[in-house]
Amino acid sequence: MAVYIPKQINEFFAAAIEPFSYNLRRNIYIWFGILWGLPIPLVTILIQAHFLEVSGVENQYLIITSSPLQWFFLAHPPLFGLIFGILGTIRNDKDTQINIMLGKFEELSTLDPLTGLKNRRYFAQNFHDECARSLRRKEPMTMLFLDLDHFKLVNDTHGHYFGDLALKATSTCLKEQCRPYDTVVRWGGEEFVVLLRATNENMALHFAERIRQKIQDGFNPALPFSLTISIGLAQYQDNDTLESLTDRADKALYHAKHTGRNKVVTWSELASAG
Ligand code: GH3
Ligand code: MG
Ligand code: MG
Repeated sequence: MAVYIPKQINEFFAAAIEPFSYNLRRNIYIWFGILWGLPIPLVTILIQAHFLEVSGVENQYLIITSSPLQWFFLAHPPLFGLIFGILGTIRNDKDTQINIMLGKFEELSTLDPLTGLKNRRYFAQNFHDECARSLRRKEPMTMLFLDLDHFKLVNDTHGHYFGDLALKATSTCLKEQCRPYDTVVRWGGEEFVVLLRATNENMALHFAERIRQKIQDGFNPALPFSLTISIGLAQYQDNDTLESLTDRADKALYHAKHTGRNKVVTWSELASAG
């Protein structure tokens, strides 16, 4: 508290110097305090003026304004302005701190701690915006569902430390390959989802193939083993929900897994094969 008080007083004077500024939030408490305190001298002055008038005293207001008791009452509006102003500034400060903390919590709740990628919760929130954008701009959009192959074996053979390292390296690789406005998400475990803006299935197929190849070729020298990845992809269609689009991409991935792994399968390829 002791640390804050000088700051509050500075802030109060900064607001008081500009009482008519448009920064109402800054000086509204001062005005409120002044208005709150104003009736006190008004009432005491009127009462004293009335009694002086009744007593037949002339120049009542000259007497009133030179009375130390009335000075005390006259000091109330600015005093209230000061007190309310300082309390208001403390409140504004607290509001700002709370908003900053809320922002940090929100950021943390949408991040995956291991890889630093956005998590599934973020994706659920973000997906609707991406759909709206895609529809508004009449741009295609394609989802990739990626799953590292035999990852359990990696953990079992090399230990969780290297398992984690592989997940981090895969995340970095995905981030590097994507454009800044694409969404890369750790879906859970060794599964990732990428949403490519302004990309149809055919273009996404090339992108996915590049990722698959990069991972197969050994994309990180820190990993003492090779990895492969299977990728299913599906293009966004009007009226798709998160569930329906993920379901198609997941089915394509499932097909990739069951036909040998380390491959890319598109939903349209699956659908046309029946
Ligand atoms: P498939 O090719 O069919 O995908 O086989 P898989 O072994 O990759 O799949 P499975 O679902 O059987 O195993 C996934 C493994 O991923 C199991 C789990 O130990 C590992 N895993 C999930 N999350 C983490 C993590 O955060 N760190 C580490 N090191 N391993 C993880
Ligand atoms: Mg999996
Ligand atoms: Mg896997």
